[in-house]
Amino acid sequence: MIPPDSDGLLCPIDVAIVGGGIIGLTQAHELLTRGFRVALFESELVCAGQASHANGGQISAESGSPWMSPVIRRELPRWLFDRHRPFSLDLFRMGSGAFPWLGSSLRNTSRRRYLANHGSLHALTRYSLGVWREYEAELGSPLVPGSGVLYLYRSHREWKAAQELLSWEGDLAIRAEVLDQDGCLRRVPHLQYAPIAPAGGFWYPDDHFGDCEAACRKLLDHALRKGVRLHLGETVHSIEPGSESVTLVTGCGCYRAEKVVIAAGVGSSALARSAGIRLPIYPVKGYTRTYSTSPLVCDGPALADQSRKVVLTPLGNRLRVAGMAEFAGFDDQPDLRFLRRIHDTASDWLPELRHVPSELDWACLRAMTPDGLPILGTAKAEAVVLNVGHGPLGWTLAAGSARIVADGIESRRSRNAIDPSPFRLARQRGVS
Ligand SMILES: Cc1cc2nc3c(=O)[nH]c(=O)nc-3n(C[C@H](O)[C@H](O)[C@H](O)COP(=O)(O)OP(=O)(O)OC[C@H]3O[C@@H](n4cnc5c(N)ncnc54)[C@H](O)[C@@H]3O)c2cc1C
Repeated sequence: MIPPDSDGLLCPIDVAIVGGGIIGLTQAHELLTRGFRVALFESELVCAGQASHANGGQISAESGSPWMSPVIRRELPRWLFDRHRPFSLDLFRMGSGAFPWLGSSLRNTSRRRYLANHGSLHALTRYSLGVWREYEAELGSPLVPGSGVLYLYRSHREWKAAQELLSWEGDLAIRAEVLDQDGCLRRVPHLQYAPIAPAGGFWYPDDHFGDCEAACRKLLDHALRKGVRLHLGETVHSIEPGSESVTLVTGCGCYRAEKVVIAAGVGSSALARSAGIRLPIYPVKGYTRTYSTSPLVCDGPALADQSRKVVLTPLGNRLRVAGMAEFAGFDDQPDLRFLRRIHDTASDWLPELRHVPSELDWACLRAMTPDGLPILGTAKAEAVVLNVGHGPLGWTLAAGSARIVADGIESRRSRNAIDPSPFRLARQRGVS
């Protein structure tokens, strides 16, 4: 442990965490529970103001898979001419960094790489659900109360392709039930009022859902009770690793800690660069609309339109609809066309949404890696630890990632721990 410095700015911190989203807050919870003295730095005046604020809410314990799959490669030419395509490339704003990132991502769409990436991701999504359950017990409060997600396909061709992909993944023993149209309607009878009918679907009983921002609030309350030192409105400008500690430079001064965990979402790349670490992360914008009432009952199931990559999640009395992958660099402003697109998709399944007011229209950036796996553990310098790159699955992966990172800091393995090696930064070719 490092003693307080005489000038008062250098404080006794075992671990400093940068970022007060779901990743930083679960990390704080995990480390405080293990007895570490933790300080958390957040640029904004509130926690969970960025990607963890109003996301799709689904805990994809079984259905979570890397976006870069053989299906993407096959569907890409068709999508280019489809006005409902789930992505948008803004060539003027996406920046030159997007091209190498897209190149590496497309390499991950081969069958061999996809299966390897999916195997690692599935181990982590499952593990994370177990850790979420432990956190619920520790906090004495439900964090992911809803269960069961029904994936819907609009065409037989897409449904068959998805079944083929699932059959390749037999070794993963994914818990999913293949449902024909009648099966989908039996599972969610409300779909009989939809103007369209699903060709078929998958039922994931072990997927869950809940409000990520509400979970952040509960984790923060608990962390404050456990003594976290919270630095709100304090941006960390740079990180300077030394031989036995690390210095954080903020607008208010300098802090020394034994270790720093970077958990700053899309802000992580700039921060890591200050410590000489290059992260293969690109910001991909997503959209959500929150309706003030929900036609789906609050405890489940939730829906996912897999043909258009839009999820529909009941959150208490409200409904959250999420989708789109827009490549427009660091621009995080919402584009009304894409909000309209996810609204139209959701209204195809739940037509009453056409008359329900939107409570919140929101856009935010996901920190994406080319292979769809987060980056966890120490980087070049031992004192700098990464918990970044969770892309579209940060809410799902937060608890498991926090445990893996804390195990690395303590050099021990928790009960039922999974192999952390697929999540190391070094897996990325050409990255030091
Ligand atoms: C539209 C959309 C839908 C999604 N749906 C789902 C879903 O259904 N299921 C799922 O599992 N995941 C989903 N996700 C992904 C999930 O929301 C993210 O992966 C997760 O919120 C990332 O958490 P984070 O803590 O890393 O980032 P953030 O929540 O963005 O937190 C990072 C924090 O770091 C702070 N920060 C940045 N730089 C600095 C600095 N230098 N100093 C101090 N503070 C700094 C920022 O202010 C921010 O508060 C979705 C994302 C989007 C955008």
